[in-house]
Amino acid sequence: MIAMALAKDPVLLVADEPTTALDPTVRRSVLGLLLDCLEETGAALLCITHDWNAARRLCQTAAVMYAGQILELGPAAQVLNRPRHPYASALHRSMDGVCPEPIPGSPPALTDLPCGCRFQPRCSNSCETCCSIVPEFNGGVRCHNLQ
Ligand code: SF4
Repeated sequence: MIAMALAKDPVLLVADEPTTALDPTVRRSVLGLLLDCLEETGAALLCITHDWNAARRLCQTAAVMYAGQILELGPAAQVLNRPRHPYASALHRSMDGVCPEPIPGSPPALTDLPCGCRFQPRCSNSCETCCSIVPEFNGGVRCHNLQ
């Protein structure tokens, strides 16, 4: 698959969940192969993944998305190791096994988004403002109450 994707010498490769359902050994090989191919061809990579560790290995810049919005964007080392947005922080804790509890609730349907902040029904930092005013994207994070 990677060879086929690179056969036409692309400038951009989009990898959508490249490590899903792979065992750890194959996963390591696939990531290594992907990195080697990118280095050889000079192609850029857009990686869409739930695999926090794959993103750490592959990406220089990371964006954490929720319900169709970017909630945090910045250098991968910062976003993936010291996230500031409540959703990104909760994901980070659950992915790294620091707090194995899942984030309560479920993501909203895109046809029925909550008012204000899209993460508000699930956020433990939520306040009255969060329920009514959409947070602006400011300094790489979209949140009214950064701690
Ligand atoms: S804006 Fe409010 S509800 Fe949304 S993530 Fe920040 S604190 Fe939580």
